[in-house]
Amino acid sequence: MYKGLIERYKDYLKDIYFQNIITLNEGNTPFIRSSNLKDITGNCNLYFKYEGANPTGSFKDRGMTAAITKAVNDGSKSVICASTGNTSASAAAYAARAGLRCIVLIPEGKVAMGKLAQALVYGADIIQVKGNFDEALNLVKEAAERFPVTIVNSINPYRLEGQKTGAFEICDDLGKAPDYQFMPVGNAGNITAYWKGYKEYWENKVIDSLPKMMGVQAAGAAPIVEGRVIKNPETIATAIRIGNPASWDKANAALKESQGAIDKVTDDEILEAYRLLSSKEGIFAEPASCASLAGLIKYAKNHDLSGKTVVCILTGNGLKDPDTAMDVEMDLKYISPNIDDLMNVLS
Ligand SMILES: *Cc1c(COP(=O)(O)O)cnc(C)c1O
Repeated sequence: MYKGLIERYKDYLKDIYFQNIITLNEGNTPFIRSSNLKDITGNCNLYFKYEGANPTGSFKDRGMTAAITKAVNDGSKSVICASTGNTSASAAAYAARAGLRCIVLIPEGKVAMGKLAQALVYGADIIQVKGNFDEALNLVKEAAERFPVTIVNSINPYRLEGQKTGAFEICDDLGKAPDYQFMPVGNAGNITAYWKGYKEYWENKVIDSLPKMMGVQAAGAAPIVEGRVIKNPETIATAIRIGNPASWDKANAALKESQGAIDKVTDDEILEAYRLLSSKEGIFAEPASCASLAGLIKYAKNHDLSGKTVVCILTGNGLKDPDTAMDVEMDLKYISPNIDDLMNVLS
């Protein structure tokens, strides 16, 4: 039986391989070949890594099994995070399982409904901050200096250890490294983690090449692309609505070392990718996730990718943010319950 990613990749996770592992059998997510987007993705061999299939619906579970396992084995009794939604959902679930108190700070009014519902039912102490994510994260850092609580944001190094296993799974499924990996970038923890994972597989000769890391930010929240802190980040992709990424330097290192690049896409481009992914591929991913595909579509407009193996990371599940779906797709038909009406609307 599959027992979660710490067990599967214990040889690469020695610092968190304890007797008592806190897991929800995260990881081992679907790796799906794209079938209907060839013409707009430069004729590449495209795959999606569907992280929305994790137990709480995002890749954050990879990091959280690691961070919470480490916290419990260090004797911690409570954890804290700032969150645009998915970190709080994941932290709350793993903390519940471990019997820890979980405190989450979320920017008021800017968290998708499904994510808030998750933190609620998992029993976290939810505190809304009248400010943005970056301000909430600063509060978390200060709080952790004043009372005994473990931070489980991606500044916690064990989060990145868990998240690097996404790269391992991709290589294990492909039998090699991809040529390019596109992914959304918010706090830049995940791009840092993936790059670490690829490098470890390369150093251990599991793969003999490395992918170019291709980061994608939302146009209204693109600090790394623009090289400056964004005071009031804005985008429909709330999971990457971040103006001052915690792992900024590490992301730049990953981009440089891998000879990759980072670019920004507009909310319209994100929503276009969101529609394409669901209507052409049958995959429902939340808006932030679709930035990866939007970034690839933009890149393919003036780069030749034919024959290249490309992976888009789909970081979170579309069900978390039903409001966006309803705004985009609100074309419902109404009939009386009789067959003539039905035949009418169908013809
Ligand atoms: C957290 C998150 C991101 C951004 O990841 P970072 O590590 O902050 O760059 C992207 N998409 C989703 C769905 C997320 O939950």
